[in-house]
Amino acid sequence: MSADPAPASARAPVIAVDGPVAAGKGTLARRLAAQFGFAYLDTGALYRAVGSKVLRAGGDPADAGAATAAAAGLAEADLKAPDLRSEAVGLAASKVAAIPGVRAALLDYQRSYAARPPGGQAGAILDGRDIGTVVCPDARVKLFVTARDEVRAARRHKELIDKGENATYDQILADLRRRDAQDQARETAPLKPAGDAHLLDTSDLDIEAAVAAAAEIVAAALKP
Ligand code: C5P
Repeated sequence: MSADPAPASARAPVIAVDGPVAAGKGTLARRLAAQFGFAYLDTGALYRAVGSKVLRAGGDPADAGAATAAAAGLAEADLKAPDLRSEAVGLAASKVAAIPGVRAALLDYQRSYAARPPGGQAGAILDGRDIGTVVCPDARVKLFVTARDEVRAARRHKELIDKGENATYDQILADLRRRDAQDQARETAPLKPAGDAHLLDTSDLDIEAAVAAAAEIVAAALKP
């Protein structure tokens, strides 16, 4: 038996940032973390690392046995895979993320990070798809960040072109819609806003305006 957990108000505050592909969650979460002195965990990187590991071993990301074993044995080094940010790994991540054994294997790590933010920081920000609904349902603040498909595809396209990758806008738009559809349709922890999430549509906001809007919500929620 474990001890009763401390009441939500006594624990280090958690900020959950969820949303679909390329909605700007990562940039927003990183900026909020710096502003509020919180630790930041990109949970998508965990699923990407599992997808990348399965692909590198020549396996099929939809194979539950291979993906669950990869998730159970995930190491820090896997998070540094050079292809972690590629489109192929993003799609593989979305496939492994639909497998309940993979999600279960990654849950403890995410919850421990939230409960005990590293470096003694004041709280934790986690970004992903199910942070507000499953990983940290009692997070102090929940943001669900969205933008129109075309806006997200254009941002992702620019990012890849800036990195020197070969990508067409049409392909990115198609991949993004496929990944969102997979993430929304899965039975375990599907992508959806928590009932108590603040919705933030960044379609017509630049990054500074999006950060300002999010920071206002967070500051209000953290007020003693
Ligand atoms: O956020 P990012 O695009 O890096 O996430 C890659 C994939 O990992 C997502 O498409 C989703 O399938 C999965 N994911 C998830 N739950 C999270 C974070 C990411 O299912 N909390």
